[in-house]
Amino acid sequence: MSITLRSLADCRAIIDAAKGARRALMIGASFIGLEVAASLRTRGVEVHVVAPEARPMERVFGPALGDFVRALHEEHGVVFHLQDAVTAIDGKSAALKSSGTIDADLVVVGVGVRPRLALAEQAGLAIDRGLTVNEYLQTSAPDIYAAGDIARWPDPHSGERIRVEHWVVAERQGQTAAANMLGHKERFDAVPFFWSQHYDVQINYIGHAERWDTITVEGDVKARDCLLRYRRDRRVLAVASIYRDLDNLKAELAMEQVAAR
Ligand SMILES: Cc1cc2nc3c(=O)[nH]c(=O)nc-3n(C[C@H](O)[C@H](O)[C@H](O)COP(=O)(O)OP(=O)(O)OC[C@H]3O[C@@H](n4cnc5c(N)ncnc54)[C@H](O)[C@@H]3O)c2cc1C
Repeated sequence: MSITLRSLADCRAIIDAAKGARRALMIGASFIGLEVAASLRTRGVEVHVVAPEARPMERVFGPALGDFVRALHEEHGVVFHLQDAVTAIDGKSAALKSSGTIDADLVVVGVGVRPRLALAEQAGLAIDRGLTVNEYLQTSAPDIYAAGDIARWPDPHSGERIRVEHWVVAERQGQTAAANMLGHKERFDAVPFFWSQHYDVQINYIGHAERWDTITVEGDVKARDCLLRYRRDRRVLAVASIYRDLDNLKAELAMEQVAAR
């Protein structure tokens, strides 16, 4: 049986499938893979995670939070097979590139998504690894706007054109696009925000840093009381925090004020 994970109904179908399962295999150690891993561990299912990276979520969070995320999942019994890959699945048995196999009752593949661009392509809209929009979320056709996961917009905070797959961004962009369709002229300049929940730990992240020069850590990551600043050319591009919500909001405000200048 194969189930996608897009909706609450999909989520319930996975929970049902997990009921009789003893062991689950997650392919991918990023948001979907690890959040599903946490949720299956709380249901008592044994979980193995196979992924090519050396540290889970390092590409987004950097090494310190990557190590923390790994340790957190290991504390809850997750077994990692990092710098590895699944080469074939035969019935309940998955073959690993490194050698050996993992037997599992349930396999969840969380290896990223691609925006569906066919409709925009057919309409002749400008495309750049997503649907290109300007600061008003207007596509290359003036009467067509785009918002959410599909849109790549000029982000004033990073100075780059970015595409972000997060709930609050999609929600805020929907509001801005709607206002502009009604004749307003609002720039979309909100600082991107997302959260990621693992067991009782929520990591909050604001901004967007695909690359950085330095990460400074305030507080103690292992003690789950920390705030990390990701800087490039001395500018703070993003902030991640655990249990420091007020500081997180202050950092968001500071980033908004820098962009407004
Ligand atoms: C399992 C999962 C967990 C997530 N967890 C988090 C999280 O913890 N935090 C967070 O910030 N974000 C999370 N996200 C991301 C968040 O859900 C998305 O960023 C958000 O839903 C994007 O909204 P959207 O409207 O752009 O796209 P979607 O929610 O994907 O909605 C797009 C809609 O367009 C419809 N559609 C597609 N093509 C067509 C067409 N040709 N014609 C008409 N309709 C069409 C689709 O059916 C769908 O209803 C998660 C996503 C998933 C899948």
